[in-house]
Amino acid sequence: MMHFYCSRCEKDYPIEGLDYQCECGGLFQLYKEEDEKITATVSLGEVKTPIIKRILQGREIYLKLDYMQPTGSFKDRGAFAVINKLKELGINEIVEDSSGNAGAAFAGYCAAAGIKCNIYLPESTSPGKIKQINAYKANVVKVPGTRDDTAKAILKAAKTTYYASHVYNPLFFEGTKSLAFEIYEQIGIPDYIVVPAGNGTMLLGIYKGFKEMGRLPRIIVVQSRNCAPVFSKFKNQSVGEMKPTAAEGIAIQEPKRIDEMIEAVTDSKGDIIVVDDVEVIKAQEMLGEMGIYIEVTSGAAVAGMLQYFKDGYDNKLNIVVPLTGMGLKK
Ligand SMILES: [Zn+2]
Repeated sequence: MMHFYCSRCEKDYPIEGLDYQCECGGLFQLYKEEDEKITATVSLGEVKTPIIKRILQGREIYLKLDYMQPTGSFKDRGAFAVINKLKELGINEIVEDSSGNAGAAFAGYCAAAGIKCNIYLPESTSPGKIKQINAYKANVVKVPGTRDDTAKAILKAAKTTYYASHVYNPLFFEGTKSLAFEIYEQIGIPDYIVVPAGNGTMLLGIYKGFKEMGRLPRIIVVQSRNCAPVFSKFKNQSVGEMKPTAAEGIAIQEPKRIDEMIEAVTDSKGDIIVVDDVEVIKAQEMLGEMGIYIEVTSGAAVAGMLQYFKDGYDNKLNIVVPLTGMGLKK
């Protein structure tokens, strides 16, 4: 039967329990039988997102328009899987900490499922970002202080209410995996896939998905130069002090699954690169000029692709860049 297990000591845990990580400190992975599926009773009208071929500065690439999900970002894939499973298990209230797309996705799916949703975020979060979460009537808990203070507050709340974390809860990756299956259906296994990464929810999802299919594209991970812990650890190279970045959706200072992220990139014979804010904003504008409106963070992957293939490449290669969030978001 589907359950969690610790990636460090292999102890089993039930999905519906309040433990969000192992008592040994290890992170959970999901165990499921080969034919075991999540029963989907909650839907907001998920779509197979379009994939379109475009030429960007002479490079032919596929853009996967993953912002065309119900709440406007790819995070719906994860929230769909988590909330459907929790609904089946009879969970009626969750807590989650995200001021961005994951918070909106959980709030939306909880509204559809009739599950009470509490989103914790730093007091300093811009009102624009809270607007969408409020529309879904989630309870917004503003925590004074830094992002770290929010993290402390959520861990306290998680002692009594189910923590539907998009980082700790492996059901989330079970959902983001579907991105890999869809790309396969649309164009087969690509040669390269360029993904932005903060906590690695998309990276780990596509890695698990392609791994199940038996062949991996080379995964090129893009981080902001202003906040690049995964790049630094992978390259054993410092990029200096962490600073705020325009690509705020991937500005995660301490990604919990950093070792898994590096393992995925290494296994795929991929690479990790960093991009500057100016390149990210330029990439967003470039797509806007083509009629494609993405949020700034999503520009990071496009900027990364342009940088990684700056010397050109064999045009027979299939390169996919998923676009994570809609431009109307902010
Ligand atoms: Zn353990």
